[in-house]
Amino acid sequence: MLTDLFVGVRSLLSPARCVGCQLPWSEEGSSPLCPACLKALPRCRFPWCQKFGPPLDQAVSVFHYEGAAKELIASLKYSGRTSLLPFLGQTLTETVLERLGPDPADAVLPVPLHPTRLRERTFNQAHLLAKELADNLDLPCWTHALVRRRPTLPQTQLPREARKTNVEKAFSLGPDPLIRSARLLLVDDVFTTGSTAASCAKLLKQAGAASVAVAALAHG
Ligand SMILES: [Zn+2]
Repeated sequence: MLTDLFVGVRSLLSPARCVGCQLPWSEEGSSPLCPACLKALPRCRFPWCQKFGPPLDQAVSVFHYEGAAKELIASLKYSGRTSLLPFLGQTLTETVLERLGPDPADAVLPVPLHPTRLRERTFNQAHLLAKELADNLDLPCWTHALVRRRPTLPQTQLPREARKTNVEKAFSLGPDPLIRSARLLLVDDVFTTGSTAASCAKLLKQAGAASVAVAALAHG
């Protein structure tokens, strides 16, 4: 990927820095954060699925969307820093196993981006995270099960009331035929009100999914 090349060239020109505090820090130890920032990550210490009812069966998040967690996600999403994926994928996997148990799903699927936005950004961060999670859990990753029918505004830019309307009817089912009776795990980078995941879950349940959970890096 061109962004990888760019990041590679940049790291030759300037010393590596911690994604959180920007102080010099080498990523060699596999963490993109210095020990202080790693320790200060705003982890979700409790299950917060109680706030969300059907059609979502479970909702888990690794971090609160603030501090170094926000920096990590922004570096991946807007600066194309895909070298963060193994670290982010691993923390997501650990949280999923901790909250949903050792056999969390039959398949993993990303919340899709609309093709127009995919072209603008060149990659779907939810797709990359879903692939990391699926690989770590040895599960299939169904990237075509959901299709985004129309572009929507980023949920984080909208007031709470407008978020639900923004995503209603935004998705349709793709050609993946295996949804019936499957326990599905949706993956997104940031979970806001849950409207996006709920909209996907509703469709998947209508197609016969046994259960739909959502796992996100952060909620905010
Ligand atoms: Zn730091």
